[in-house]
Amino acid sequence: MREALLRSFFVLSMSLITTVHAVPDTTQALQANVHGVPILYQFGRLDTDNLKGNASMSSAGCLVRLDITSFVREGSRLLAHEVGHCLDMYLLGGSHGGFRDEGRVYGDYFAAPAEGFAEAWAEAYVRKCGDLLAPLGFPVADGTCEPPLASDVTPTRIAGP
Ligand SMILES: [Zn+2]
Repeated sequence: MREALLRSFFVLSMSLITTVHAVPDTTQALQANVHGVPILYQFGRLDTDNLKGNASMSSAGCLVRLDITSFVREGSRLLAHEVGHCLDMYLLGGSHGGFRDEGRVYGDYFAAPAEGFAEAWAEAYVRKCGDLLAPLGFPVADGTCEPPLASDVTPTRIAGP
């Protein structure tokens, strides 16, 4: 159901950009802000196979590039993972919240410190805010929720998968 909704959301946004103002234009970067960190969401096909998204620092803020098919499938979970990287880079100075390999509880890929923190923050986000996209600064009015603080996600306070 959620996948169908997201899919129709993107079909709408691609085809009715000029007439439906409530639907964001996903062909442009979407500006967002989470805990004071400026974020730009950009959708498209990523060059690397199997890469669902990535986050990097840019002069305009944290640039989050997302594979649109993966986003339609995973929604807030994928968005939150990339926002987790942004919070790490901009608020925690790239310390990864002290994560070493504790993220392995989410899978081998998340044993890397940066991936462990990002996924733990995403897990905390989904537990608190569920499918909501608006709290991640995404321009849809789907509800309100205060995202978890970056400083609240640590290896000893990690939410299980
Ligand atoms: Zn990641």
